Amino acid sequence: MKKILVSQCLYGDKPVRYDGKTKEERDPRFIRWKEENRLIPVCPEVDGGLPVPRTDAQRIGDQVITRDGRDVTKEYRRGAEIALERALQEEVLCAVLKEKSPSCGSNKVYDGTFEGNLIDGQGITVQLLREAGVRVYSEEELDLVEQMVTGRENIILTGMPACGKS
Ligand code: SF4
Repeated sequence: MKKILVSQCLYGDKPVRYDGKTKEERDPRFIRWKEENRLIPVCPEVDGGLPVPRTDAQRIGDQVITRDGRDVTKEYRRGAEIALERALQEEVLCAVLKEKSPSCGSNKVYDGTFEGNLIDGQGITVQLLREAGVRVYSEEELDLVEQMVTGRENIILTGMPACGKS
């Protein structure tokens, strides 16, 4: 069974977010993948050495800077490398990561002003995963992930692509 790399805050087993909370994903498809033991949770910020709770941070160009002005780019990069290692080890089908995060955001991130402004962009971990060819989606794109999961299983079971998919 193909695995899916997921943000640990979406997986919900540990309070890894900067505010000491989780963002447990309750979508029935996500719960089913969890019950199937398909999900591989990672938290790049904690894996990179940052504590819980921690000061929030945003991307500014290639750097990640905390609200109080500390450069945490090194920790973010280390966490991204650990996530990539895990993705490659497990030969994941794709990743489902938390939107808007400076690590895990895949379509939108905050603009670095700490005023709540979102811009098109991606987090440090997502950038590294995509550069290595891993497909990354957000928790708002589970339809696409479900298509990949069911399409893939269908190919494995029947040797044919799922109906309507090439
Ligand atoms: Fe969640 Fe990713 Fe932030 Fe960890 S780094 S708390 S997994 S969004």
